[in-house]
Amino acid sequence: MKNKVDLIVIGAGIGGYVAAIRAAQLGRSVLCIEKRATLGGTCLNVGCIPSKALLSSSHKYTETQNHLSDYGIKVGQISLDLAKMMEQKNKVVGQLTGGVDYLFKKNKIAHLVGTARFLSPQEVSIQTEAREEIWHAKKILIATGSVSASLPGIEIDEETVVSSTGALNLKAVPEHLIVVGGGYIGLEMGSVWSRLGAKVTVIEFMDRLVPQMDLELSTALQKSLVKQGLEFRLSTRVLGIRKHQKKSIIDVESNGGGKQELQADVVLIATGRKPFTDGLGLEKIGVALNKQGFIVVNEHYETSTSGIYAIGDVIPGPMLAHKAEEEGTAVAEIMVGQAGHVNYGAIPSVIYTSPEVASVGQTEEELKDQQIPYKVGKFPFLANSRAKAVGDTEGFVKILAHAYTDRVLGVHIIGPDAGTLIAEATLALEFSASSEDIARTCHAHPTLSEAVKEAAMAVEGRAIHI
Ligand code: FAD
Ligand code: NAD
Repeated sequence: MKNKVDLIVIGAGIGGYVAAIRAAQLGRSVLCIEKRATLGGTCLNVGCIPSKALLSSSHKYTETQNHLSDYGIKVGQISLDLAKMMEQKNKVVGQLTGGVDYLFKKNKIAHLVGTARFLSPQEVSIQTEAREEIWHAKKILIATGSVSASLPGIEIDEETVVSSTGALNLKAVPEHLIVVGGGYIGLEMGSVWSRLGAKVTVIEFMDRLVPQMDLELSTALQKSLVKQGLEFRLSTRVLGIRKHQKKSIIDVESNGGGKQELQADVVLIATGRKPFTDGLGLEKIGVALNKQGFIVVNEHYETSTSGIYAIGDVIPGPMLAHKAEEEGTAVAEIMVGQAGHVNYGAIPSVIYTSPEVASVGQTEEELKDQQIPYKVGKFPFLANSRAKAVGDTEGFVKILAHAYTDRVLGVHIIGPDAGTLIAEATLALEFSASSEDIARTCHAHPTLSEAVKEAAMAVEGRAIHI
């Protein structure tokens, strides 16, 4: 039959493209359909990569402006070339999305730019710019990801009221940026624009930042960001946003503080993301969604319709690129009869602020709630020789281990390079290691990773350097 492959993947985000490559490696013929002109989905185009590029550039800017003199490096007057900074970010995005094109060619994956829609459980229509094509496959994977969830009655124009996509492309540094939502995007993008000179106010509905994070780290992060100039309005909700000349007026109401009007040049709505299944025609083929709109899957990522699978942000679970990627690999292996598997108890999360915050496993609050007996080991970067040498001593490592078995249950790090250091802790959880296993493992000196070893030693009260 013409236009027939073993597997059709809808969406070339990090979940979809990884699944396509793994399936091709396993000998399957694959077609991947993506409506964006470039591959890589949210993560590469408007998510992880451009945000990390701007976080890095803005960090360099503020380091040069405020801290290089501490190390005996004198610089003259420094100034910001925002257009050049954006150009550098776009270049990185272009290189990485182009890299996925290369990987598709290398693995002989067919790729169509167009919007997919189901005609039947084994038949997909693809509307390209030029024509409609119909393709067939016994197995179809939905990896259509997620989009920003706005607030009722608030219109995002991507210029004055923006989602993360607009916040990654502002043409000038706003005088006052109001961020609605003190989660991942709010804190990362808030940090970028604060470092570049904006006054940043974060409005958060809950009484703390990043509600799912271990409370001790969330409190430490807030303290650090306040020192950097960000302002926080916790326990506050937005009632509406109005335009007044070139400004936005934000009506807010806080617990105990009553109603108030705030004024901003740009408002970033960062109140979460929602799964994207619009226009796929899922109702026609019987694919069930849950109440929040996520596609329901079983432990093999198969939906309620046989032969149709789903992974990534469009199914329940943390909306993280590496989670989508793991599921992409697992589903491709499961489809060929292998034992693909994702350990949801060992998925790290990282917030790329300064200091970085990284966590894996359970938080102290979760252990208390579940009445699991635990021990805590903590070690500050202030007592780590490498952190001292490089002048980056803020933060600490916190290890939670079972009180009787010593098994590592959670590791939470706030400090320099926390996002890299968490890999060791993730491996510990994956291998069901004890805190003693980490404590007895030789770590190179002088490295930041010695703080992880010392925190593990601190679980039994035998850290050396404190
Ligand atoms: P997506 O990346 O959303 O890809 C889905 C693709 O499907 C899209 O390209 C879309 O165009 C396409 N599509 C949808 N419908 C159709 C259709 N009908 N036909 C054809 N194509 C279709 N995660 C991290 O782990 N680390 C980070 O640092 C990080 N930073 C982020 C920063 C920002 C600003 C944002 C917004 C997100 C960030 N994330 C981060 C989250 C991460 O981007 C997502 O978890 C990840 O992209 C999910 O991958 P996915 O493949 O499931 O979906
Ligand atoms: P989020 O879920 O991280 O944070 C949303 C925040 O908004 C929460 O703290 C919530 O309490 C608050 N909120 C919700 N409604 C509100 C309201 N009406 N008023 C005030 N506050 C309100 O969502 P996000 O920051 O939009 O990011 C979306 C997802 O993208 C994240 O959950 C994460 O999975 C992913 N992401 C990851 C990274 C990373 O891994 N470094 C970076 C960016 C985004």
